[in-house]
Amino acid sequence: MNHPPQLTELKARLHEIYDLEMTAALLNWDQTTYMPPGGAVARGRQLATLGRIIHEKQVDPVIGRLLDALRSYEESLPPDAPDAALIRVARRDYERATRIPAAFTAELYQHMAASYDVWSRARPANDIGAVLPYLERTLDLSRRFAEFFPGYEHIADPLIDMADYGMRATTIRQVFAELRQGLIPLVEQITAQPPIDDSCLRQFFPKEQQLAFGVEVITALGYDFTRGRQDTTLHPFMTKFSLNDVRITTRFDDHDLGSALFSTIHEAGHAMYEQGITLEFEGTPLASGTSAGMHESQSRLWENIVGRSRPFWEHFYPRLQATFPNQLAHVPLETFYRAINRVERSLIRVEADEVTYNLHVILRFDLELALLEGTLAVRDLPEVWHERYRSDLGVTPPDYRDGVLQDVHWYGGLIGGAFQGYTLGNIMSVQLFDAALRDHPDIPHQIAQGRFDTLRAWMREHVYRHGRALDADDILRRVTGKSLDVQPYLAYLRRKYGELYHIAIDA
Ligand code: ZN
Repeated sequence: MNHPPQLTELKARLHEIYDLEMTAALLNWDQTTYMPPGGAVARGRQLATLGRIIHEKQVDPVIGRLLDALRSYEESLPPDAPDAALIRVARRDYERATRIPAAFTAELYQHMAASYDVWSRARPANDIGAVLPYLERTLDLSRRFAEFFPGYEHIADPLIDMADYGMRATTIRQVFAELRQGLIPLVEQITAQPPIDDSCLRQFFPKEQQLAFGVEVITALGYDFTRGRQDTTLHPFMTKFSLNDVRITTRFDDHDLGSALFSTIHEAGHAMYEQGITLEFEGTPLASGTSAGMHESQSRLWENIVGRSRPFWEHFYPRLQATFPNQLAHVPLETFYRAINRVERSLIRVEADEVTYNLHVILRFDLELALLEGTLAVRDLPEVWHERYRSDLGVTPPDYRDGVLQDVHWYGGLIGGAFQGYTLGNIMSVQLFDAALRDHPDIPHQIAQGRFDTLRAWMREHVYRHGRALDADDILRRVTGKSLDVQPYLAYLRRKYGELYHIAIDA
C-alpha cells in the first residue's frame, strides 16, 4: 500500500507536539541550571502555558480520526515496520491522554505543586504531620487516576504502565520477592565481614579535576559531546531537546570522589541510549527510550557493570592517579576498587551500594501496592516504613527526614509506578550484558584496554536504535530468549561480591 496522506498529517501533528515538548524540556533545563531566581514566576507560567497547549494538541479529536483512518494501512504492514510502530505507539499515547479528563489533570497539577512545596519545607524540618494530609490526597488522586483505566488486574497496573509499559503488579511482585529472597542472605553474609575502608575516596578532590576526569571517562564510553553537553545542578539528570542534543547534569562534592563520577557515568548511560536512537524517528513519539526500566538498565549498566568493574579501573586508575597524585599515588588499585564497591546497610536509597540498593526499592514498591490496595493507611506509613527498614536493611531511621520523607517521588507525583523501574533496570542490565558477552566474549578484555565500542555498538543495535518501536519485553525476548529474569542478576552479584569480600556465597 502507498504511503497514505493521513500518515503525513499525523506525523506533522506529532512533530508539532514533539517540538513543544522539547521546548518545555529546554525551559526546564534552564530553570535548574542558569536561570536567575528572579525568573522563577514567569518560568512557572511559561511551562504551564506550554503544558496546556501540548495537552490540547495531544487530545485533539483529529488525531483520533487520523489513527482510525490509518488502521487498515497499519494492519497491512509487518508489526515491526517503522510506520506500524509509529501508529501503534501514537494510538497508545492518544488513548491514554484522552481517558484523563482535563479537569482532573488541572486538579492533579495544582495538588502536586502544593504537595511538593510543603514537602520541600517539611523534610528539613522533619515535619511528618505537615505532609500527611497531602499524601492522603495524593493517594486518593492516584486511585482516581487508575479508575480512568478500568479492567485492570491490580489497581497499581495503570500507574505502572505509564512508566514501564506492559509490566503488571503481580509479575513484578513475584520477581521482586525472588530477588529479595536472594538479596537478604547475601547482605547478611557480606556485612558479617570486616567493613571495607573507603577513606581514600573521602579526601579533598577539587571540582575542576573531577569534572575533567569525568569528561574523559564518558567521552571514552561514547557519550557524544558534539550532540550534548554537561552542566552543574543540584540534582543530576539527563534531558533532551532533540536526538542530536541530549544533555546531562552533574553535582560535585569536594570530599567524595565517587559521588560525581558515578552519577556522571549514570547520566551518560541514559544519554547514550537517547543519542543511539535511529535519527529516522526524530520528531515522533518513537524518539525516546522505551521504558523507565529499560532506561535505567543502561544507566546502571555503564555505571555499575562497567564503571565499578575491575577491568574498567585497570585502564582508568593510572589516569585517575595522575589526575590526583597527592590523594591517590599511594593508594593501590585493589584498595580503590574495594572502596568503590563497599557494601553497607544504610538509610538513603540514592547513596546505597549495588547490593543493598534494590532492598530500598522493593520496600517502596511493596508500600505503594499496600497503600493503593487500602491494606496500609497513610497515617501508618511512617511507622511501617521504619519497621521495613529494620527488617530488610537492619537499620532504624532516626527521624522521618531520612525515613519516609527522603524521596521526592510521592510528593511531586502519584503513588504507584514511581519506583519499580530502578530495580527492573538493574535486573535487565545483567540480562543484556550477558547477552552481549555471549556474542563478544572479549568485552571485559576490551574494557581493560579502555575500548567500549563493541559493547556500545551491541547496545545500540539491540536496544538503543529501536526507541519506543520495541517494548522492553520485546527487546529482552529477542536478545535473551526470555522475559525478565532475576537469576542472572543474582548470579552477577554473588560472583562479584563473593570475590570482593572473600566469601563463599551460598547459591
Ligand atoms: Zn537513572
